[in-house]
Amino acid sequence: MTSNGLNTQVFDAIVIGGGPAGSSAAYKLAAEGRSVLLLEKSKFPRFHIGESMVPYLFKLLEMMGVSEKVKQGAFVQKNGVEFLTGQTNDLRRQNFGNLKEGQTPYSYNFNRARFDKILLDHARDTGAKVLQEADVKKLIFENDRLVGVEYQYQGQRYEARASYVVDASGRAGLVAKHFNLRKMNTRLENVAIFQHYENVVPENNPGVQGDVLFSCHEDGWLWGIPVETDVMSIGTVMPLRLLKQSNPEEMFAKHLDRSPRIKRAIKGATPAFDKPKVELDFCYYSEKMTGPGYFIVGDAACFVDPVFSGGVFLSMLCGLKAGEGINSILQGKDEKQAFTDFENLAKTGYDSYFRVVYCYYYLYNRDMNRMGSDLPGGFRFVLQTFAGDFWADKEQPVMQYLRSKNEWNTFEEPFERVYDCPVYPDIHYTADELATLPPAADFASVDVDKQLVLA
Ligand SMILES: Cc1cc2nc3c(=O)[nH]c(=O)nc-3n(C[C@H](O)[C@H](O)[C@H](O)COP(=O)(O)OP(=O)(O)OC[C@H]3O[C@@H](n4cnc5c(N)ncnc54)[C@H](O)[C@@H]3O)c2cc1C
Repeated sequence: MTSNGLNTQVFDAIVIGGGPAGSSAAYKLAAEGRSVLLLEKSKFPRFHIGESMVPYLFKLLEMMGVSEKVKQGAFVQKNGVEFLTGQTNDLRRQNFGNLKEGQTPYSYNFNRARFDKILLDHARDTGAKVLQEADVKKLIFENDRLVGVEYQYQGQRYEARASYVVDASGRAGLVAKHFNLRKMNTRLENVAIFQHYENVVPENNPGVQGDVLFSCHEDGWLWGIPVETDVMSIGTVMPLRLLKQSNPEEMFAKHLDRSPRIKRAIKGATPAFDKPKVELDFCYYSEKMTGPGYFIVGDAACFVDPVFSGGVFLSMLCGLKAGEGINSILQGKDEKQAFTDFENLAKTGYDSYFRVVYCYYYLYNRDMNRMGSDLPGGFRFVLQTFAGDFWADKEQPVMQYLRSKNEWNTFEEPFERVYDCPVYPDIHYTADELATLPPAADFASVDVDKQLVLA
């Protein structure tokens, strides 16, 4: 019992939030035999936006021992993405089959309510104590060190203490906000408006089944993600200033009208929400992701424009690495060194991802097809980058080029880049090898009015 009359439980680690980042951290700690309490405010399954995954994610699921459970979830397999540049009517398809042999040549579109629950259950099954509808209300500090939390659960207040707290509270960002660490990314002042459509007829989809439909126009871009065989997620992303001149319903309808293939895919389908949902305060980052007693992971630390579908991958990877970091400290590693190692890895990942996004908006003015064809090294390196190669080594021409642009540095404080891909350390294209391969034919332009046929 504490001085404030609360029952106290003690753990090796406490994780705030049971999204992909928090579940991955809790899984890793439990797998290492650590006692870990995960506190999640809502009751799963719960809706979450963010449904298209990069192919590198699948390897991460394998590393976490959860890939079979995900496969059994019968999620929509995504073999590629189609890109329609509305201004030029240029339609192309990116086929993940062109990834390097040994890399998973597909990904998934996740209904996040179902996927996030699988991950949370996996953390619990591995040994984490998981409490849902447990709302963290207060961070507890002792001598400037974060030592625990107070939370509300089943109408009562509790206290838990631990050697480390992992903040995986997503956009709520409890620890980052407490320390005033969150900085808005003024290069990417966008908003998203989105809706789910049910009773979708798959035959109305003009693209390859399972592919994400991507469409850009003069004011922004849209996604069309089949999240179930009969449910499609549709979203439009645009500069905040445009939304200020109109309203979400109007903008959503206007942009959908500019994307005939996405509109056709949801012909006759029914909106799932009364009106489209809006996500403001788009992109931000935190210069510091560790400190006395804490790690900050996933959206609690950084949020990048979702145009390349990297959010869940980065969040899970950082969650896993924070778990690894805490375990190593508890085994005797120097805390400062563990913090530095974690931040270098996380910052390399987010810095790379931000650069790919800046390149899309600023260098290619949202023309994904030009970006795919023009970047140094050719299409297969671009595909590898889009697939999640955010820790590419110094020889990878796309990342080398993007990193040469100092004006695109996101983090102000210097950090040491990590060049070892955490999921495919030994499998990636090299320039020598690519010189001997034929060009990736299926990134060629396709007649917009023709049906796309899977190669
Ligand atoms: C419009 C939009 C589109 C996106 N599209 C994609 C995409 O296509 N692909 C992709 O990979 N990513 C996408 N993302 C990003 C992706 O959704 C996030 O990166 C991902 O969900 C982050 O996971 P997380 O675990 O860090 O946070 P979350 O998934 O948000 O989980 C945080 C959890 O913390 C809990 N929590 C919050 N406060 C408390 C508290 N006080 N106590 C206890 N629990 C708390 C919340 O209930 C929540 O469950 C998109 C995001 C947006 C906004």
